[in-house]
Amino acid sequence: MASSSTNALSSTSNSPKTTTWQTFKRLVRYAKPYKLGFVAAILGMIGYATIDIYFLSKLQPLVDEGLSGKNTEFMKWAPAFIIAAFIIRGIAHFIANYCLAWVGNNVVADLKQQLFEHIMSMPVAFHDQNSTGSLISKVTFDTEQVLNSVSKSILTLVQQSAFVLGLLGLMFYMSWQLSLIFLLITPVIAVIVTLVSRRFRKVSKNIQGAMGEVTTAAEQTFNGHKVVLTFGGQQREFSRFSLINKRNRQQRMKMNATKSASVPIIQIIASFALAFVFYAITSEIFKTDISPGTFVSVITYMSMLLRPLKQLTNINSEFQQGMAACISIFSVLDQETEKDKGTLPLERASGALSFKHVDFAYEVAKNENDTVKVESPEIKLALNDLTFDLAPGETLALVGRSGSGKSTASSLLLRFYDATNGEILIDNTNIEAFKLADLRQQFSYVSQQVVLFHDTLANNIAYGKPDATQEEIIAAATSAHVMEFAAEMEEGLETNIGENGALLSGGQRQRVAIARALLCDAPFLILDEATSALDTESERHIQDALQALQKNRTSIVIAHRLSTIESADKIIVMDQGKIVEQGDHQSLLAKQGAYAQLHNFQFE
Ligand code: ADP
Ligand code: MG
Repeated sequence: MASSSTNALSSTSNSPKTTTWQTFKRLVRYAKPYKLGFVAAILGMIGYATIDIYFLSKLQPLVDEGLSGKNTEFMKWAPAFIIAAFIIRGIAHFIANYCLAWVGNNVVADLKQQLFEHIMSMPVAFHDQNSTGSLISKVTFDTEQVLNSVSKSILTLVQQSAFVLGLLGLMFYMSWQLSLIFLLITPVIAVIVTLVSRRFRKVSKNIQGAMGEVTTAAEQTFNGHKVVLTFGGQQREFSRFSLINKRNRQQRMKMNATKSASVPIIQIIASFALAFVFYAITSEIFKTDISPGTFVSVITYMSMLLRPLKQLTNINSEFQQGMAACISIFSVLDQETEKDKGTLPLERASGALSFKHVDFAYEVAKNENDTVKVESPEIKLALNDLTFDLAPGETLALVGRSGSGKSTASSLLLRFYDATNGEILIDNTNIEAFKLADLRQQFSYVSQQVVLFHDTLANNIAYGKPDATQEEIIAAATSAHVMEFAAEMEEGLETNIGENGALLSGGQRQRVAIARALLCDAPFLILDEATSALDTESERHIQDALQALQKNRTSIVIAHRLSTIESADKIIVMDQGKIVEQGDHQSLLAKQGAYAQLHNFQFE
């Protein structure tokens, strides 16, 4: 989406009055490609209402001429007319509903796709600050809400308005005096509609938020159910969920109360009108003019107006619900995606890497959509003046306590975040100059948290290189010792490993991740506690594979087991984002400092 149009929208979205209208106009833009279907749907709706009106217009001749026996032709044709009318009505009904659903589903599919792509293109910081549950709820619940509410509103609005207008026309044609009485109640109804819908808009906005909360709360707890069991947190989780659940229920009941109250109130008001009509008819003024057919017709029309009017009063709330969901969707779409200002292409880096006085602070979320950059000096920097140089092919080991900023350094390298101060250079060029995709292609990255997809082992290994041959995959699987457990599975490498690799143990998952990195042959390698879930035995096996992997690559190895990094060209000991010590294994041991202490601690 062009940034100019988003800016124009966000600048007008301040006033709540225009928001609904602006949002709707924006939604309509999504329907533009499908306008033919929309036109067909509208024609179907109007056709449907027209047939109904035409049908009802025959009520007066039926009573006055047909049933009274004055016109025998009328009764002869009546059966055929009924069948024909219902066939046409049925076709119109089908066209209206089918075409509307076609437009609606296309729009929603487009919205879902755009939303999905947008969320996937958001900077890492966005994902830090938004829970997966609330994002999923936007893609699924909110988009469905838009589809249902808007389709229903349009269908009711067009079809029932046409019907109401037609009926009013007929009424006035037959007896304008009686019809006028009816019109007296219209303004009263209009006032109620406004009041009810205003209340509704507020409630439906709240419930929108509460929905996400239930999903989030349930998802988080289900994901962590083992932790909950272990630490006896069940009762706490029960009461926490119960609280959220209660809020959700209250919101839903409020919405229901508004809805339930609006219907009878409007009907009671309408009943006064009907009562007055009866009173008027029996009074002297009208008595003589009106035939039985006209009388029956007008009374019938009036009672028939109640239902569509009721539906029309309901559509605003229905529509507001859809718009609330729409606003929630657009608020995500309006957030800027990851910016790629880099223009320099990078085929394959030679492998020189340096950090020059790099500072970095994470953005902390004040609330869901608001972030502030931490710039005040007293707030802790995740990285503080990180400086080092690596020649092509060298290996750097980062060691230090957890939370000392090791993973943050590698995140910066992949530009998940950008340095607050200082610069990071690859082949003597600031990494921000390179095209993002090109830059990220230079890295094989094995992290603490292995992410696996619901797919076969082979496809998981080949994720970074989808065109890999079978031989390449097997070679990578063999060096990473994946074959050992793959061979025991029924379908070998073609075994589906379940959602997020549920069928694998922690160590097995890491081996798959290592195979993945082995296969995608990049000039830089980042191993972020890549072997932390392996037992010493498996680690030793894989160590050869990792060593081979490091051979022609510039590598950053983050490890808490110091035995695995002794051969590194450079070792940096970090604490609270700062370099405490650096050197190689021997010189650091000789220094008798922090490294030596860590080392003695692990090997005594
Ligand atoms: P290490 O990998 O050395 O264990 P990290 O680089 O993960 O340490 O974390 C360094 C510091 O940054 C820690 O204080 C941590 O709490 C903080 N931190 C890490 N990730 C985030 C994040 N996504 N948002 C905010 N703070 C973070
Ligand atoms: Mg880490």
